[in-house]
Amino acid sequence: MASMMQPQILVLKEGTDTSQGRAQVVSNINACTAVADTLRTTLGPRGMDKLIHDDKGGVTISNDGATIMRLLDIVHPAAKILVDIAGSQDSEVGDGTTTVVLLAAEFLKEAKPYVEDGVHPHSLIRSYRTAGNMAIQRVKELAVSIEGKSLEEKKSLLAKCAATTLSSKLIGGEKEFFASMVVDAVLAIGNDDRLNLIGIKKVPGGTMRDSFLVNGVAFKKTFSYAGFEQQPKKFLNPKILLLNIELELKSEKENAEIRLSDPLQYQSIVDAEWNIIYDKLDKCVKSGAKIILSRLAIGDLATQYFADRDIFCAGRVTEEDLQRVAAATGGMVQTSVNNVIDEVLGSCEVFEEKQVGNERFNIFSGCPSGQTATIVLRGGADQFIEEAERSLHDAIMIVRRALKNSTVVPGGGAIDMEISKYLRQHARTIAGKSQFFVNSFAKALEVIPRQLCDNAGFDATDVLNKLRQKHASGEGANYGVDINTGGIADSFANFVWEPAVVKINAINAATEASCLILSVDETVKNPKSESAQGDAAAGAMAGRGGAMRGRGGRGMRRR
Ligand code: ADP
Ligand code: MG
Repeated sequence: MASMMQPQILVLKEGTDTSQGRAQVVSNINACTAVADTLRTTLGPRGMDKLIHDDKGGVTISNDGATIMRLLDIVHPAAKILVDIAGSQDSEVGDGTTTVVLLAAEFLKEAKPYVEDGVHPHSLIRSYRTAGNMAIQRVKELAVSIEGKSLEEKKSLLAKCAATTLSSKLIGGEKEFFASMVVDAVLAIGNDDRLNLIGIKKVPGGTMRDSFLVNGVAFKKTFSYAGFEQQPKKFLNPKILLLNIELELKSEKENAEIRLSDPLQYQSIVDAEWNIIYDKLDKCVKSGAKIILSRLAIGDLATQYFADRDIFCAGRVTEEDLQRVAAATGGMVQTSVNNVIDEVLGSCEVFEEKQVGNERFNIFSGCPSGQTATIVLRGGADQFIEEAERSLHDAIMIVRRALKNSTVVPGGGAIDMEISKYLRQHARTIAGKSQFFVNSFAKALEVIPRQLCDNAGFDATDVLNKLRQKHASGEGANYGVDINTGGIADSFANFVWEPAVVKINAINAATEASCLILSVDETVKNPKSESAQGDAAAGAMAGRGGAMRGRGGRGMRRR
């Protein structure tokens, strides 16, 4: 009775929902495993794709981990961390997004029995951190440099990295074709860091093989007015004027208030408007440019004016395309047509308007600074081309990475097996329970070859045994899953290469994420966010009971 008389102490706002303790860690781990399970089947060259359709009716088919994670719209707070690491892997290195999620989830899964048995998460975290660092160190040691090769050699090496990335994608069937295209595109932009210098244009229709690379800029014909068809559509060595102004007859009287005393003066205002536009057009023509592009509209008057003077014009060019034309042709975007000097005009060897499928394209090739490339992608369905674009993006990123720090490691699970072996060996030298944790970390790394086998329909246990044996023998460091035969093969000799940064970043991010999730033992959900989610009923029910539950640890009961 006495205890009932005591006033209840409420620390948190009424209705706050908290769950804490060991069970909370386990529940977070379960959520992460569930997320990884949906992604699992997409790994590797025999991975499946996911079709995701949203409530707006949009359909996306993808094999890319980051894209799938983003579209899954995960609400679980802990599992969201996995979405973040997939995203960061995507922006950091561009590939290995499925890998990073699978690794993180596997690290957690291996930790789960220990957490359940009452091991303090911090013991696990400490061991995981050490193991993670050792793994990264080992990857760096095992990585092979492709530095100091001739351009031709380098090209073929880079193409192999690109092909490995592409082999797991929808366009994997044409990986050599696209790999060399990607390498050419990346080499064309040189050391420039701006990724958007490589444009990817999608034109539905045709087959994949009809895709082509333009050494320069290409963009879809913009909206045009009457008179456009009279303009010439091909130029050799033209000068190019880039503008950020409107070339349209404007009703100036709508922007300003003008008071007239005599109706006859009205005509003078109309004349002034015409003079303004003609003056602008005249200056454009005088600049000597044969091609005039503007980010804003070029109206019918201007179009006809230019057509009469054998000049080509295009208005409403997107900012991105205009910047790429500027970078490629050496021109500068002007915001006024006064005093257009020769230096701000760009130039290229050939300009042409070309028919590609159902679309017409403006193509600038043979550009002097040459710092751009455009890949025109063809293919059947829209979803297909979109996925192809995402795949090419991965490949482009990989080639750029490989160019920058040119070390590669064997793929197909070979490097993962080798690190796993190394960590197991190291674990044996550790006294104390940390040995188990490092061993678990090592075991978790095997998820990559195991999943590659599973996805290809091979007997994973069998293949993994062979791999373990080979790696333990000390001579098979490069052996990974042979995706063609279901056995094991030297990934290096088979040119299944991945840039070392992909692995380093993946292990790093996965270790961080798993440690982060292990270190969370309480989730607090305040009543506001609950009701914001339309969960009003639950909020009202919780009331005082909610606060009590908090202390008792709802999570505990769940066990
Ligand atoms: P991620 O999103 O992590 O890049 P992928 O679906 O692209 O996932 O699969 C990448 C994995 O597939 C890597 O571990 C890579 O080594 C492996 N892989 C790619 N090509 C081959 C191949 N031809 N044979 C065996 N493994 C391959
Ligand atoms: Mg990949």
